[in-house]
Amino acid sequence: MTDRSGVTVIGLGPMGRALAGAFVRAGLRTTVWNRTPGRDGELVELGAVRAGTPEEAAAVSGLTVVCVVDQEAADSVLRREAVTGALKGRTVVNLSASTPAKSRAAAAWASGHGVRYLDGAIMTPIGTIGTPDAVFLHSGPKDLYQEHLPVLEALGGAHTHLGEDPGRAAAYEIALLDVFWTAMAGYAHALAVARAEGITARELAPFATGIGAILPPIFEELAAGVDGGDYSGESNPITSAASSMAHIIETSEGHGIEAGVMRAAEGLARRVIGTGHGADGFIRVTDLLRRPGGRAEAAVR
Ligand code: NDP
Repeated sequence: MTDRSGVTVIGLGPMGRALAGAFVRAGLRTTVWNRTPGRDGELVELGAVRAGTPEEAAAVSGLTVVCVVDQEAADSVLRREAVTGALKGRTVVNLSASTPAKSRAAAAWASGHGVRYLDGAIMTPIGTIGTPDAVFLHSGPKDLYQEHLPVLEALGGAHTHLGEDPGRAAAYEIALLDVFWTAMAGYAHALAVARAEGITARELAPFATGIGAILPPIFEELAAGVDGGDYSGESNPITSAASSMAHIIETSEGHGIEAGVMRAAEGLARRVIGTGHGADGFIRVTDLLRRPGGRAEAAVR
């Protein structure tokens, strides 16, 4: 029997379990399924209903939320004939990490099989789920989003519909994770260099936090300029940035610590300077990277 007000969660990794837990706590009839059995013990104790198969899970609710490792994993469940059949006329909100192209392909597949489909991305860690701090991005048909928003709001946080293009949530996700992982690569490298200089991670942490706090206002300030093609570097020219990066590389390699990430960043800065834009800010690199042929040029160097 289908419970149109109920919700199914497919995928019970740490994030899937957090989502399902939030649905149960919000009082929704929540059915769960995971490829590997045994991950649903606490959820069932909390009140979730265990499904024996993904098609059974899909058939009992009007809305199925998928949260597995990636799009390929989601496809491997959704494209099973019995699951696709059970989902016909029902809605899937796929919150698994993906790429814009794969999300668009999944939406086209769903549309061809009578499955109503929204793509989404979760931009905050599991501890935020069910709290005001969670951030969810969605894309796909707006009416479908509005129809299911009341249930999705049980997950807490802010939900933003980014547009009808089903790849748009994944596009934001990719850009935001680019910021995140590049910062994490920098932090991991910074800790290695600091350790070589006898500074513990604990000692560095408050100062690293201070550096992190400088970034948000810089993002805001640069956004308007970049959209308008203004890369002004009046207060911090890219020549100065390249010099600072060279110090990091020298210190790092002096300790025998590889500095590949910083070498890549410094290389981009030097190329900008080489094209006569040394008075611009570091963000001029954005323009260099998006030029047609920019990638080929990078590969040649
Ligand atoms: P994982 O990314 O490790 O995903 C684990 C889940 O994927 C498990 O349910 C696993 O099933 C399932 N899975 C993997 N391969 C397959 C497959 N081929 N077929 C079916 N199921 C498969 O853990 P999370 O739960 O943390 O993440 C889920 C999604 O949420 C990911 O896309 C992640 O990027 C995203 N996310 C996670 C955050 C976090 O803080 N954890 C934060 C923001 C987003 P099984 O148990 O059988 O292996």
